[in-house]
Amino acid sequence: MTAPMVLRYSLFQYILLIIFMLLMLAGVGLAHADTDSHTDSHTDKHTTNQTPHRTFMLSFDDGPLPGKTEKVLAALAQLDDPAGKPVKAAFFMVGNAPDTLFSQRKYYAPYEMWIHKGSMSKYPQLVADVRKAGHYVGCHTAHHAWFRWPWQDDSNEIKAEILAWEHDAAPLPDGAPKLFRPPYLVDTFAVQTAAHDLGYQIILGHTVGDANPVNSVADIEHNIVGIMQKTPASETPVLLIFHDIFPTADNHLVEIVHWLQQQGYILMDFNPANIHDDDAP
Ligand SMILES: [Zn+2]
Repeated sequence: MTAPMVLRYSLFQYILLIIFMLLMLAGVGLAHADTDSHTDSHTDKHTTNQTPHRTFMLSFDDGPLPGKTEKVLAALAQLDDPAGKPVKAAFFMVGNAPDTLFSQRKYYAPYEMWIHKGSMSKYPQLVADVRKAGHYVGCHTAHHAWFRWPWQDDSNEIKAEILAWEHDAAPLPDGAPKLFRPPYLVDTFAVQTAAHDLGYQIILGHTVGDANPVNSVADIEHNIVGIMQKTPASETPVLLIFHDIFPTADNHLVEIVHWLQQQGYILMDFNPANIHDDDAP
């Protein structure tokens, strides 16, 4: 009689012990979650306090395109860096954008809507104008290739795209840094390998939302403030990505930058030495 009672008692004890341990774990979990949310809100507050001091740089993708890139150049000439000189930006240009529907579908991402992109090989004068104004010109591949297609996702194919871009962009000025922004910000191991092998620095950044035609200027300003607030406070300027082929950059760049400056954000010259991995989206 006694032994089964002891056994039953022991089982009961075990069950109680397990329930107790589960409650303990749940308690620890809740406490941890609480700590996390406290930390998050503290961090947010900290970040919010820091944001007026945050700095940003400008970059423009998918040009050069006549009637559009000139407008961005004219806007940049009206914007000053902290030293009062016209600000320097970076243009990540397409070498020779595909013309036919078939080749566009071969190279572009399946979700790409804006098919009319710039070409350095067709508009070399625009490339020269951008360089003459002191801006950086970086590689955005020859054909705006999406490096997730199985026919262009390995490092040899990616290198071929970069080398074809160099042919379209030639000659790079002496001493110009080799900068590479993969289209759609596809930053795979194969992309990193190709860039490294050819001596390119990968430059990512934060898209402002100008590719979406429903976004108003206010939406884009809101997006930028969101980007600034989410990025951990540091000395590294946030690199914003506009597109010179889209109307926002062409028509509203000065307005947007002035608004940001009124909010306490500081426009800096683009400087590849200021780009770190933590600027990745
Ligand atoms: Zn692009």
